[in-house]
Amino acid sequence: MNRLPRNKNLARIRRAFKRWEFVVTHWGWKFTVVYCDGLDDMPSGTSANTTACTVADWQYLKATIYVNLTACADETDDEIETTVIHEFMHMLIDPLYDNNKRNEMDYIATVLSRTIFGMKKG
Ligand SMILES: [Zn+2]
Repeated sequence: MNRLPRNKNLARIRRAFKRWEFVVTHWGWKFTVVYCDGLDDMPSGTSANTTACTVADWQYLKATIYVNLTACADETDDEIETTVIHEFMHMLIDPLYDNNKRNEMDYIATVLSRTIFGMKKG
């Protein structure tokens, strides 16, 4: 597999965030992206193959998205886009976290992100 150089990887991830941010900014959400070079910079509880994770504060429509650049370097462009949408879906479904398990929330975020990404493909 071709591992992208850091600058090209970072550029395509930024493009994906710009392309899809409307799905959350439309609702008034604000978010910050923290680009991490590897697992050591990611929040605790993530693993080496975690490409991104989101810490959201739905009451205030604010979130921080952590991106693991090393894990993303092996992803295809389409995978990067669905990852970005997946993290945005975590923001939108954040109020449901109190009553649902983490795996179930990931399932919902994945299904929604693939649906939205599929709509782009037509
Ligand atoms: Zn997830």
